[in-house]
Amino acid sequence: MSLSPAVDAYVALGSNLGDSRATLEAAVSALDALPECRLAGVSRTYRTPPWGRLDQPDFLNAVVRLRTTLRPLALLDALMAIERRFGRTRNGERWGPRTLDLDLLHMDGEVLADARLTLPHPRVAERAFVLCPLADLAPELELPGQGRVSDLLRRIDAGGCVPVD
Ligand code: ATP
Ligand code: CA
Ligand code: CA
Repeated sequence: MSLSPAVDAYVALGSNLGDSRATLEAAVSALDALPECRLAGVSRTYRTPPWGRLDQPDFLNAVVRLRTTLRPLALLDALMAIERRFGRTRNGERWGPRTLDLDLLHMDGEVLADARLTLPHPRVAERAFVLCPLADLAPELELPGQGRVSDLLRRIDAGGCVPVD
């Protein structure tokens, strides 16, 4: 039995290899099926241009809200296990194509600078592909050290992010 209180956690999903639409749908189910986690919201899905490395296919991106009693590192471990199950391999190359990327964007009440986990995720404010779906679920959310989601979204060019559902 877990003694931690339930909090909201926001997880970003991304895919640009294989059948990305099917992968995202199955990944949302896998997140809902995690122990101590309940799916509490799903954003629209967006087609978005690649970021960091431009010579790769467009991504599909979405964000979910999980209600969870898992501690942050336990949730990160669970996310990485799902990535592996969906064929994610890590060849050391940053920001390259992937079948599934699951980033932990924020957990209520948690600010963390662990070697394996930074919370909130440090690059949310500069990423339209994260802010568009996050704003579907939580426009008023205040990300410690970065600001309110709706304000962050207003500051960047999100023209390349197109809802596809
Ligand atoms: P980015 O973090 O810029 O989105 P990425 O998702 O391509 O890049 P990965 O290769 O998936 O990077 O992950 C690299 C490492 O980032 C992971 O091994 C993980 O320990 C670490 N990490 C730190 N903070 C987080 C976070 N908030 N969510 C997910 N992973 C994180
Ligand atoms: Ca990522
Ligand atoms: Ca990642």
